[in-house]
Amino acid sequence: AIPTALQVASGTGAKLGVFIKSHQAMESARVIDTVVLDKTGTLTQGRMSVVDLVTADGVTQDDVLRYAGAVEDASEHVIAAAIAAHARGELGDLPAVSEFAALAGLGARGTVEDRRILIGSARLLAQEDIAVPPALNQARSDWEGEGRTVVLVVADGTAVGALALADVIKPSAAEAVGWLHEMGLRTLLLTGDNATTARAVADQVGIVEVIAEVLPADKEATIARLQSEGHRVAMVGDGINDAPALARADLGLAVVDGTDVALAAADLILIRDDLNVVPTALTLARATLATIR
Ligand code: ADP
Ligand code: MG
Repeated sequence: AIPTALQVASGTGAKLGVFIKSHQAMESARVIDTVVLDKTGTLTQGRMSVVDLVTADGVTQDDVLRYAGAVEDASEHVIAAAIAAHARGELGDLPAVSEFAALAGLGARGTVEDRRILIGSARLLAQEDIAVPPALNQARSDWEGEGRTVVLVVADGTAVGALALADVIKPSAAEAVGWLHEMGLRTLLLTGDNATTARAVADQVGIVEVIAEVLPADKEATIARLQSEGHRVAMVGDGINDAPALARADLGLAVVDGTDVALAAADLILIRDDLNVVPTALTLARATLATIR
């Protein structure tokens, strides 16, 4: 639901799909020098799909899909939804999971068919001291170079498979970033995904700086650090993970697929999927204030 939005510059703003929640937001927009953009769901459409799967020696694709699908079926993450849907499409019904736990920004765990399943990023496996066999590691680095999100699957402490997920970069992303640069703004990509994947996506949209492998709880601290370096920061985000960062930023812009939490934390709410609405909103704020003065 859209919160009761104060529509400053209402005619133009509403047509552009920008809801402005306070006059203060307009004031902030004028002094922004840095724009931080979330990757999944902001630069990309946030609709992931499984596009590849490799297994360790002696493990079947069905086993990997069954374990992964069962655990992810209990999780809310967009990655999880994609994996569960894919597994169900391939296998039909999925087995039950018990002792499920989400590991924010890292993955999830649960018990499936009496096996302890862990699923998530390479960083998660490194933290748990779980070795990744060369075949899985090679697939992982190839996929990361293509901008894929990679998820590893572990059964009883042994890595058994890896999945590649694709997301679609919004067609407007490169143009919007180019426009922000023309406005003299610095852009950064901020994500929980790994650095290589983030770099590949940044390259495709023209963003120079990448801050990757940031846990959800640390996104806000990243914004605070930029501010302590003297920057006025706009954060563009969507998901529930981004809400504290949106609130911390000098200006929070939420793309509308976001949750109510993200919306409540944002100063400007962007109704359109077209990312050009970001530079448009900042330009509008500058122009509106120039008119008021
Ligand atoms: P983002 O910054 O894109 O919103 P998150 O912080 O939610 O990403 O997650 C960061 C990384 O943690 C993901 O790219 C993925 O590798 C891993 N991850 C998080 N949740 C899950 C999950 N449910 N299943 C598998 N991997 C996950
Ligand atoms: Mg996101």
